[in-house]
Amino acid sequence: MLIQSIVIAFFVSLVVRKWLTQPIQNLTDSFATIDPTNPETMTMLQFKQGKQDEISRLTQGINALMHELKLTISNEQSLRIKTQELEAKFRLIFEQASAGICLLDDKNMITTFNPAFKHYFTVPGEEELSTLHFPALLNNVDELQNLLADIRCDKNPPQATLDIECKVGHKTIWLHCLFVRLTEQRETKRSDHQEHFVEVILHDVTERAEREFQTRFEADHDPLTDLLNRRAGEKRLKKALRECIKHNQHLVLMMIDLDKFKPINDTYGHEAGDKVLIEIAHRFKKRFNQETDICIRLGGDEFIVARQVNTYNKAATREQSNALLNELQQDIYISQNKTCAVGASIGIAVGPKDGDELLELMINGDKMLYHVKETGRGKIAFYDEFKK
Ligand code: GH3
Ligand code: MG
Repeated sequence: MLIQSIVIAFFVSLVVRKWLTQPIQNLTDSFATIDPTNPETMTMLQFKQGKQDEISRLTQGINALMHELKLTISNEQSLRIKTQELEAKFRLIFEQASAGICLLDDKNMITTFNPAFKHYFTVPGEEELSTLHFPALLNNVDELQNLLADIRCDKNPPQATLDIECKVGHKTIWLHCLFVRLTEQRETKRSDHQEHFVEVILHDVTERAEREFQTRFEADHDPLTDLLNRRAGEKRLKKALRECIKHNQHLVLMMIDLDKFKPINDTYGHEAGDKVLIEIAHRFKKRFNQETDICIRLGGDEFIVARQVNTYNKAATREQSNALLNELQQDIYISQNKTCAVGASIGIAVGPKDGDELLELMINGDKMLYHVKETGRGKIAFYDEFKK
Protein backbone atom coordinates (compact mmCIF):
# COMPACT_ATOMS: atom_id res chain seq x y z
CA MET A 1 0.00 0.00 0.00
CA LEU A 2 2.84 2.36 0.95
CA ILE A 3 4.81 1.40 -2.12
CA GLN A 4 1.70 1.91 -4.23
CA SER A 5 1.23 5.37 -2.72
CA ILE A 6 4.89 6.30 -3.34
CA VAL A 7 4.67 5.19 -6.97
CA ILE A 8 1.46 7.17 -7.50
CA ALA A 9 2.99 10.22 -5.82
CA PHE A 10 6.09 9.87 -8.01
CA PHE A 11 4.04 9.67 -11.18
CA VAL A 12 1.79 12.56 -10.07
CA SER A 13 4.87 14.69 -9.39
CA LEU A 14 6.28 13.70 -12.80
CA VAL A 15 3.03 14.69 -14.46
CA VAL A 16 2.85 17.98 -12.49
CA ARG A 17 6.44 18.75 -13.36
CA LYS A 18 6.03 17.99 -17.08
CA TRP A 19 2.64 19.61 -17.58
CA LEU A 20 2.64 22.45 -15.06
CA THR A 21 5.91 23.39 -13.33
CA GLN A 22 8.14 23.05 -16.40
CA PRO A 23 5.95 25.10 -18.77
CA ILE A 24 5.51 27.81 -16.07
CA GLN A 25 9.27 27.77 -15.54
CA ASN A 26 9.85 28.14 -19.31
CA LEU A 27 7.33 30.97 -19.47
CA THR A 28 8.97 32.77 -16.55
CA ASP A 29 12.47 32.35 -18.09
CA SER A 30 11.34 33.66 -21.49
CA PHE A 31 9.55 36.54 -19.80
CA ALA A 32 12.68 37.46 -17.84
CA THR A 33 14.57 38.16 -21.09
CA ILE A 34 12.09 40.87 -22.11
CA ASP A 35 13.11 44.53 -21.58
CA PRO A 36 9.98 46.69 -21.84
CA THR A 37 12.05 49.69 -23.01
CA ASN A 38 13.60 47.72 -25.88
CA PRO A 39 11.08 46.36 -28.41
CA GLU A 40 13.81 44.17 -29.98
CA THR A 41 13.73 41.91 -26.92
CA MET A 42 9.98 41.39 -27.24
CA THR A 43 10.25 38.04 -28.99
CA MET A 44 7.24 35.77 -29.05
CA LEU A 45 7.03 33.27 -26.16
CA GLN A 46 7.21 29.63 -27.25
CA PHE A 47 4.32 27.21 -26.75
CA LYS A 48 3.17 23.99 -28.30
CA GLN A 49 0.94 24.79 -31.26
CA GLY A 50 -2.50 23.19 -31.19
CA LYS A 51 -2.53 22.81 -27.44
CA GLN A 52 -5.55 24.34 -25.79
CA ASP A 53 -4.52 24.14 -22.16
CA GLU A 54 -4.51 27.22 -19.84
CA ILE A 55 -0.75 27.81 -20.12
CA SER A 56 -0.85 27.80 -23.94
CA ARG A 57 -3.80 30.19 -23.89
CA LEU A 58 -1.98 32.42 -21.37
CA THR A 59 1.16 32.42 -23.57
CA GLN A 60 -0.93 33.28 -26.66
CA GLY A 61 -2.56 36.16 -24.74
CA ILE A 62 0.83 37.49 -23.60
CA ASN A 63 2.15 37.21 -27.20
CA ALA A 64 -0.83 39.15 -28.58
CA LEU A 65 -0.33 41.84 -25.93
CA MET A 66 3.41 42.05 -26.68
CA HIS A 67 2.76 42.26 -30.40
CA GLU A 68 0.49 45.28 -29.88
CA LEU A 69 2.96 46.86 -27.45
CA LYS A 70 5.86 46.37 -29.85
CA LEU A 71 3.86 47.95 -32.66
CA THR A 72 2.88 50.93 -30.51
CA ILE A 73 6.44 51.49 -29.29
CA SER A 74 8.00 51.30 -32.76
CA ASN A 75 5.30 53.61 -34.18
CA GLU A 76 5.99 56.09 -31.44
CA GLN A 77 9.74 55.84 -32.00
CA SER A 78 9.51 56.50 -35.73
CA LEU A 79 7.14 59.41 -35.03
CA ARG A 80 9.64 60.86 -32.59
CA ILE A 81 12.46 60.55 -35.14
CA LYS A 82 10.32 62.26 -37.79
CA THR A 83 9.45 65.08 -35.36
CA GLN A 84 13.11 65.54 -34.48
CA GLU A 85 14.08 65.63 -38.17
CA LEU A 86 11.35 68.19 -38.88
CA GLU A 87 12.37 70.29 -35.91
CA ALA A 88 16.00 70.19 -37.08
CA LYS A 89 14.91 71.35 -40.55
CA PHE A 90 12.85 74.23 -39.13
CA ARG A 91 15.72 75.19 -36.84
CA LEU A 92 18.08 75.18 -39.82
CA ILE A 93 15.72 77.45 -41.77
CA PHE A 94 15.41 79.79 -38.75
CA GLU A 95 19.14 79.76 -37.98
CA GLN A 96 20.39 80.13 -41.55
CA ALA A 97 17.67 82.37 -43.02
CA SER A 98 19.08 85.46 -44.70
CA ALA A 99 16.07 87.39 -43.40
CA GLY A 100 16.09 88.60 -39.80
CA ILE A 101 13.28 86.91 -37.89
CA CYS A 102 12.05 87.68 -34.40
CA LEU A 103 9.00 87.10 -32.25
CA LEU A 104 7.43 89.87 -30.15
CA ASP A 105 5.31 89.35 -27.06
CA ASP A 106 2.29 91.49 -26.18
CA LYS A 107 4.61 94.17 -24.73
CA ASN A 108 6.61 94.33 -28.00
CA MET A 109 9.58 92.69 -26.29
CA ILE A 110 11.72 90.40 -28.45
CA THR A 111 11.40 86.85 -27.13
CA THR A 112 13.26 84.96 -29.88
CA PHE A 113 15.48 86.07 -32.74
CA ASN A 114 17.68 84.40 -35.32
CA PRO A 115 21.36 85.16 -36.10
CA ALA A 116 20.48 87.29 -39.17
CA PHE A 117 18.30 89.49 -36.96
CA LYS A 118 21.14 89.96 -34.48
CA HIS A 119 23.53 90.71 -37.35
CA TYR A 120 21.32 93.62 -38.50
CA PHE A 121 21.37 95.31 -35.11
CA THR A 122 24.87 94.77 -33.79
CA VAL A 123 28.16 96.21 -34.98
CA PRO A 124 31.30 94.03 -35.06
CA GLY A 125 32.58 93.52 -31.53
CA GLU A 126 29.14 93.90 -29.93
CA GLU A 127 27.77 90.76 -28.32
CA GLU A 128 24.24 91.75 -27.39
CA LEU A 129 21.34 93.72 -28.82
CA SER A 130 21.24 97.19 -27.27
CA THR A 131 17.62 96.62 -26.14
CA LEU A 132 15.00 93.90 -26.45
CA HIS A 133 12.21 96.45 -26.86
CA PHE A 134 11.62 96.19 -30.62
CA PRO A 135 10.33 99.74 -31.34
CA ALA A 136 13.24 101.22 -29.36
CA LEU A 137 15.73 98.97 -31.15
CA LEU A 138 14.59 100.47 -34.46
CA ASN A 139 14.54 104.05 -33.05
CA ASN A 140 10.96 104.35 -34.18
CA VAL A 141 8.90 104.01 -31.03
CA ASP A 142 5.68 105.91 -31.82
CA GLU A 143 5.09 104.69 -35.37
CA LEU A 144 5.94 101.07 -34.54
CA GLN A 145 3.91 100.95 -31.34
CA ASN A 146 0.84 102.20 -33.22
CA LEU A 147 1.38 99.76 -36.08
CA LEU A 148 1.87 96.79 -33.73
CA ALA A 149 -1.23 97.72 -31.74
CA ASP A 150 -3.22 97.84 -35.01
CA ILE A 151 -1.97 94.39 -36.05
CA ARG A 152 -2.95 92.88 -32.70
CA CYS A 153 -6.48 94.17 -33.13
CA ASP A 154 -8.61 91.30 -34.48
CA LYS A 155 -10.68 93.48 -36.76
CA ASN A 156 -7.59 94.62 -38.71
CA PRO A 157 -5.74 92.54 -41.32
CA PRO A 158 -3.21 90.21 -39.65
CA GLN A 159 -0.28 91.47 -41.74
CA ALA A 160 1.38 94.80 -42.47
CA THR A 161 4.62 95.97 -44.08
CA LEU A 162 6.74 99.02 -43.44
CA ASP A 163 10.08 100.31 -44.76
CA ILE A 164 12.13 101.80 -41.93
CA GLU A 165 15.33 103.82 -41.99
CA CYS A 166 17.42 102.81 -39.03
CA LYS A 167 20.78 103.84 -37.58
CA VAL A 168 23.06 101.03 -36.36
CA GLY A 169 26.37 102.38 -35.02
CA HIS A 170 27.48 104.88 -37.65
CA LYS A 171 25.66 103.05 -40.42
CA THR A 172 22.21 103.88 -41.78
CA ILE A 173 20.28 100.90 -43.08
CA TRP A 174 16.86 100.50 -44.67
CA LEU A 175 14.78 97.56 -43.52
CA HIS A 176 11.69 96.18 -45.21
CA CYS A 177 9.62 94.80 -42.32
CA LEU A 178 6.77 92.30 -42.58
CA PHE A 179 4.66 92.02 -39.42
CA VAL A 180 2.41 88.98 -38.98
CA ARG A 181 -0.07 88.46 -36.13
CA LEU A 182 0.22 85.02 -34.52
CA THR A 183 -2.38 83.75 -32.11
CA GLU A 184 -1.51 81.41 -29.27
CA GLN A 185 -4.36 79.81 -27.35
CA ARG A 186 -3.34 79.33 -23.72
CA GLU A 187 -5.44 77.68 -21.13
CA THR A 188 -5.25 79.39 -17.80
CA LYS A 189 -6.90 78.24 -14.60
CA ARG A 190 -9.44 81.05 -14.69
CA SER A 191 -10.35 81.18 -18.36
CA ASP A 192 -9.07 80.70 -21.87
CA HIS A 193 -7.34 83.81 -23.12
CA GLN A 194 -5.63 84.69 -26.38
CA GLU A 195 -2.18 86.24 -26.60
CA HIS A 196 -1.22 87.91 -29.83
CA PHE A 197 2.42 87.37 -30.63
CA VAL A 198 3.79 89.20 -33.64
CA GLU A 199 6.33 87.65 -35.98
CA VAL A 200 8.63 90.16 -37.67
CA ILE A 201 10.57 89.31 -40.83
CA LEU A 202 13.18 91.89 -41.86
CA HIS A 203 15.08 92.27 -45.11
CA ASP A 204 17.96 94.69 -45.59
CA VAL A 205 16.90 96.83 -48.57
CA THR A 206 19.53 99.55 -48.09
CA GLU A 207 20.98 99.05 -51.58
CA ARG A 208 17.56 99.25 -53.22
CA ALA A 209 16.57 102.28 -51.12
CA GLU A 210 19.82 104.06 -51.98
CA ARG A 211 19.31 103.27 -55.67
CA GLU A 212 15.76 104.63 -55.52
CA PHE A 213 16.96 107.70 -53.64
CA GLN A 214 19.70 108.24 -56.25
CA THR A 215 17.22 107.80 -59.14
CA ARG A 216 14.80 110.26 -57.53
CA PHE A 217 17.66 112.70 -56.86
CA GLU A 218 18.82 112.46 -60.48
CA ALA A 219 15.28 113.01 -61.75
CA ASP A 220 14.88 116.16 -59.64
CA HIS A 221 18.33 117.73 -59.83
CA ASP A 222 20.58 119.35 -62.38
CA PRO A 223 23.56 117.02 -62.90
CA LEU A 224 26.16 119.79 -63.11
CA THR A 225 25.28 121.82 -60.01
CA ASP A 226 23.06 119.42 -58.00
CA LEU A 227 20.52 122.25 -57.65
CA LEU A 228 16.84 121.47 -58.32
CA ASN A 229 16.06 121.31 -62.04
CA ARG A 230 13.31 123.38 -63.64
CA ARG A 231 10.59 120.70 -63.40
CA ALA A 232 11.18 119.76 -59.76
CA GLY A 233 11.92 123.38 -58.82
CA GLU A 234 8.64 124.66 -60.27
CA LYS A 235 6.78 121.91 -58.41
CA ARG A 236 8.38 123.04 -55.13
CA LEU A 237 7.64 126.70 -55.90
CA LYS A 238 3.97 125.97 -56.63
CA LYS A 239 3.66 124.14 -53.33
CA ALA A 240 5.41 126.96 -51.45
CA LEU A 241 3.18 129.61 -53.06
CA ARG A 242 0.06 127.60 -52.15
CA GLU A 243 1.26 127.38 -48.55
CA CYS A 244 2.02 131.11 -48.45
CA ILE A 245 -1.49 131.95 -49.65
CA LYS A 246 -3.00 129.55 -47.13
CA HIS A 247 -0.96 130.76 -44.13
CA ASN A 248 -0.77 134.43 -45.02
CA GLN A 249 2.99 134.25 -45.68
CA HIS A 250 5.17 135.57 -48.53
CA LEU A 251 7.33 133.93 -51.15
CA VAL A 252 10.34 136.06 -52.12
CA LEU A 253 11.36 134.95 -55.61
CA MET A 254 14.72 136.02 -57.08
CA MET A 255 15.25 135.45 -60.80
CA ILE A 256 19.03 135.46 -61.33
CA ASP A 257 21.07 135.48 -64.54
CA LEU A 258 24.86 135.74 -64.61
CA ASP A 259 26.30 138.74 -66.39
CA LYS A 260 28.71 138.21 -69.28
CA PHE A 261 29.04 134.53 -68.62
CA LYS A 262 29.48 133.58 -72.28
CA PRO A 263 32.87 135.34 -72.51
CA ILE A 264 34.18 133.01 -69.78
CA ASN A 265 33.37 130.04 -71.98
CA ASP A 266 34.93 131.78 -74.93
CA THR A 267 38.08 132.83 -73.05
CA TYR A 268 38.80 129.91 -70.75
CA GLY A 269 36.82 127.10 -72.36
CA HIS A 270 33.53 125.32 -71.62
CA GLU A 271 35.05 123.34 -68.75
CA ALA A 272 36.04 126.52 -66.97
CA GLY A 273 32.50 127.80 -67.57
CA ASP A 274 31.20 124.64 -65.88
CA LYS A 275 33.46 125.29 -62.88
CA VAL A 276 32.01 128.78 -62.59
CA LEU A 277 28.44 127.41 -62.63
CA ILE A 278 29.35 124.82 -59.96
CA GLU A 279 30.94 127.48 -57.75
CA ILE A 280 27.96 129.82 -58.15
CA ALA A 281 25.64 126.94 -57.11
CA HIS A 282 27.93 126.22 -54.15
CA ARG A 283 27.58 129.85 -53.03
CA PHE A 284 23.77 129.56 -53.20
CA LYS A 285 23.88 126.35 -51.13
CA LYS A 286 26.10 128.00 -48.54
CA ARG A 287 23.94 131.09 -48.18
CA PHE A 288 20.50 129.47 -48.32
CA ASN A 289 18.94 126.70 -46.28
CA GLN A 290 18.74 123.49 -48.34
CA GLU A 291 15.66 122.33 -46.43
CA THR A 292 13.55 125.46 -46.29
CA ASP A 293 14.76 127.61 -49.21
CA ILE A 294 14.44 126.64 -52.87
CA CYS A 295 17.48 126.90 -55.19
CA ILE A 296 16.90 126.05 -58.85
CA ARG A 297 19.01 126.01 -61.97
CA LEU A 298 16.52 126.89 -64.69
CA GLY A 299 19.10 126.22 -67.42
CA GLY A 300 22.27 127.86 -68.84
CA ASP A 301 23.30 130.61 -66.41
CA GLU A 302 19.76 131.26 -65.12
CA PHE A 303 18.80 130.48 -61.54
CA ILE A 304 15.91 131.00 -59.14
CA VAL A 305 16.30 131.31 -55.40
CA ALA A 306 13.11 131.54 -53.35
CA ARG A 307 12.44 131.92 -49.66
CA GLN A 308 9.18 131.50 -47.76
CA VAL A 309 8.84 134.18 -45.03
CA ASN A 310 6.20 134.79 -42.38
CA THR A 311 6.38 138.56 -42.75
CA TYR A 312 7.86 140.29 -45.77
CA ASN A 313 10.45 142.95 -45.00
CA LYS A 314 11.54 144.74 -48.15
CA ALA A 315 14.55 146.44 -46.59
CA ALA A 316 15.86 143.12 -45.25
CA THR A 317 15.25 141.45 -48.62
CA ARG A 318 17.15 144.23 -50.37
CA GLU A 319 20.04 143.83 -47.95
CA GLN A 320 20.14 140.02 -48.42
CA SER A 321 19.98 140.33 -52.22
CA ASN A 322 22.80 142.86 -52.33
CA ALA A 323 24.89 140.61 -50.06
CA LEU A 324 24.23 137.72 -52.42
CA LEU A 325 25.13 139.83 -55.44
CA ASN A 326 28.35 140.84 -53.74
CA GLU A 327 29.22 137.23 -52.95
CA LEU A 328 28.52 136.06 -56.50
CA GLN A 329 30.90 138.71 -57.84
CA GLN A 330 33.85 137.37 -55.83
CA ASP A 331 36.70 135.70 -57.73
CA ILE A 332 36.23 132.13 -58.82
CA TYR A 333 39.18 129.75 -59.00
CA ILE A 334 39.46 128.03 -62.38
CA SER A 335 42.87 126.37 -62.42
CA GLN A 336 46.40 127.05 -61.19
CA ASN A 337 46.96 130.82 -61.20
CA LYS A 338 43.71 131.35 -63.04
CA THR A 339 40.68 133.03 -61.54
CA CYS A 340 37.76 134.86 -63.04
CA ALA A 341 34.72 136.77 -61.88
CA VAL A 342 31.15 137.09 -63.05
CA GLY A 343 28.44 139.43 -62.01
CA ALA A 344 24.72 138.74 -61.77
CA SER A 345 21.45 140.55 -62.32
CA ILE A 346 18.50 139.86 -60.02
CA GLY A 347 14.79 140.53 -60.55
CA ILE A 348 12.62 140.16 -57.44
CA ALA A 349 8.89 139.44 -57.27
CA VAL A 350 7.05 138.62 -54.05
CA GLY A 351 4.11 136.25 -54.01
CA PRO A 352 1.23 136.43 -53.67
CA LYS A 353 1.20 140.24 -53.84
CA ASP A 354 3.12 140.33 -57.20
CA GLY A 355 1.36 137.24 -58.53
CA ASP A 356 -0.77 134.54 -56.94
CA GLU A 357 -0.01 132.08 -59.75
CA LEU A 358 3.57 130.82 -60.12
CA LEU A 359 3.73 131.61 -63.85
CA GLU A 360 2.64 135.19 -63.25
CA LEU A 361 5.15 135.58 -60.40
CA MET A 362 7.98 134.21 -62.54
CA ILE A 363 7.09 136.42 -65.50
CA ASN A 364 7.10 139.47 -63.21
CA GLY A 365 10.46 138.48 -61.69
CA ASP A 366 11.80 137.95 -65.22
CA LYS A 367 10.59 141.37 -66.32
CA MET A 368 12.70 142.90 -63.56
CA LEU A 369 15.70 140.75 -64.41
CA TYR A 370 15.67 141.95 -68.01
CA HIS A 371 15.04 145.48 -66.85
CA VAL A 372 18.33 145.21 -64.90
CA LYS A 373 20.09 143.67 -67.92
CA GLU A 374 18.90 146.54 -70.12
CA THR A 375 19.91 149.20 -67.61
CA GLY A 376 23.50 148.17 -66.97
CA ARG A 377 23.49 144.76 -65.19
CA GLY A 378 24.88 143.87 -61.74
CA LYS A 379 21.90 145.17 -59.76
CA ILE A 380 18.66 144.09 -58.14
CA ALA A 381 15.18 145.34 -59.00
CA PHE A 382 11.82 144.81 -57.28
CA TYR A 383 8.64 144.30 -59.28
CA ASP A 384 6.59 146.68 -57.07
CA GLU A 385 8.98 149.51 -58.00
CA PHE A 386 8.67 148.78 -61.73
CA LYS A 387 4.90 149.15 -61.67
CA LYS A 388 5.01 152.70 -60.25
P1 GH3 B 1 24.17 138.25 -70.32
O1 GH3 B 1 25.13 139.07 -69.57
O2 GH3 B 1 23.27 139.07 -71.21
O3 GH3 B 1 23.37 137.34 -69.47
O4 GH3 B 1 24.97 137.35 -71.35
P2 GH3 B 1 25.80 136.05 -71.02
O5 GH3 B 1 27.16 136.17 -71.56
O6 GH3 B 1 25.70 135.71 -69.61
O7 GH3 B 1 25.08 134.95 -71.89
P3 GH3 B 1 23.60 134.46 -71.79
O8 GH3 B 1 23.09 134.61 -70.42
O9 GH3 B 1 22.80 135.08 -72.88
O10 GH3 B 1 23.76 132.92 -72.16
C1 GH3 B 1 24.28 131.97 -71.27
C2 GH3 B 1 25.38 131.20 -71.89
O11 GH3 B 1 25.79 130.16 -71.05
C3 GH3 B 1 25.01 130.49 -73.20
C4 GH3 B 1 25.80 129.24 -73.21
O12 GH3 B 1 26.90 129.32 -74.08
C5 GH3 B 1 26.34 129.13 -71.80
N1 GH3 B 1 25.95 127.87 -71.19
C6 GH3 B 1 24.71 127.37 -71.07
N2 GH3 B 1 24.74 126.23 -70.39
C7 GH3 B 1 26.05 125.99 -70.09
C8 GH3 B 1 26.73 124.95 -69.39
O13 GH3 B 1 26.13 123.97 -68.90
N3 GH3 B 1 28.07 125.02 -69.25
C9 GH3 B 1 28.75 126.08 -69.78
N4 GH3 B 1 30.08 126.11 -69.60
N5 GH3 B 1 28.14 127.05 -70.45
C10 GH3 B 1 26.82 127.03 -70.60
MG1 MG C 1 23.82 135.46 -68.62
